[in-house]
Amino acid sequence: MTDRLIDKLIKERSLSKEEYALLISERTLKAAERLKQAASEVRDEIYGHDIFVRGLIEISNICVNDCYYCGIRKSNASVERYRLKSSEIIDTADRGYELGFRTFVLQGGEDPAYNDEVLCDIVRKIKEMHPDSAVTLSMGERSRESYRKLHEAGADRYLLRHETASPEHYGKLHPEEMSFSNRMRSLKDLRDTGYQTGCGMMVGSPFQTERELAEDLKFIEEFKPDMCGIGPFIPHRATPFRNERPGSAELTLYLLSIIRLIHPPVLLPATTALGTILPDGREQGILYGANVVMPNLSPVRVRKKYELYDNKICTGEEAAECVDCLSARMKAIGFRIVTERGDIRL
Ligand code: SAH
Repeated sequence: MTDRLIDKLIKERSLSKEEYALLISERTLKAAERLKQAASEVRDEIYGHDIFVRGLIEISNICVNDCYYCGIRKSNASVERYRLKSSEIIDTADRGYELGFRTFVLQGGEDPAYNDEVLCDIVRKIKEMHPDSAVTLSMGERSRESYRKLHEAGADRYLLRHETASPEHYGKLHPEEMSFSNRMRSLKDLRDTGYQTGCGMMVGSPFQTERELAEDLKFIEEFKPDMCGIGPFIPHRATPFRNERPGSAELTLYLLSIIRLIHPPVLLPATTALGTILPDGREQGILYGANVVMPNLSPVRVRKKYELYDNKICTGEEAAECVDCLSARMKAIGFRIVTERGDIRL
């Protein structure tokens, strides 16, 4: 059964929603092995064993939104809030540059202090000092006009996970003020504006079944994102989802292979969340078809505070240690981290 679906996926890079759902619900160890093998082959053809690195800078944990799954949601009064100063963000990128990073990802909650003027200024300065680097933003939903200004200031890429491609499911993960259509509008605006655009979802988020995941895969197939971030849902103790079950590493790996096969050139990270629920999760992610890792460059004093979920790894080390650790992990499985912007190879 799954053999036929895998053959079709490899050949056509597309399945129907029903077929995606079956490929998930009927999965076996054997199917996972086949997908892993096929995904590795197509990844190797495009990227070889080069792994792209992105220096993640968690610029603020202040957020106006109240997503039920997220540890930095505004209703969580137990978070110690912080916001990095512009100068500190720029210094952090500088240090990252010296360590070999050529992509910086500025991620944060939806913090109004980073209005267009402030954020454009930061982007402009990083690009001025390091014109051979890419700047990726992951700052949530903004207006089309704002996306345009930031792109003009030099931002190259934007990560905005769609979270779920089902509007009903979206409604169960977010409060009423947030809208599925604005999320999707934002993604389309980002693409139209000229960004390399990233979407993605959590695996095993509450109320998610193979039907929702099939919707996600169909969306990925149609949107053809430049980047796609997926990681297991991990409950955070101070959120409404505190007692929900975490997502599975096994299913996350299975989906990484499927996504690689749907859209071979996609930039696919082995995420920190995957490394959090499985000790060698990031290595496994690469072995199942991923080609990107995102070491944390944030100042150590804020690492613990940017806590989207419980037990997040890499909150104690300095940036350089984080890089060394990941380099060693990649080397141990026969891959190597490269110093380049790491754009999509279409
Ligand atoms: N404010 C930005 C950045 C969000 S944090 C935005 O809206 O895009 C980046 C991602 O972390 C989110 O898109 C979400 O998919 C993931 N995330 C949040 N809480 C999580 C949790 N409890 N477990 C796993 N992933 C989580």
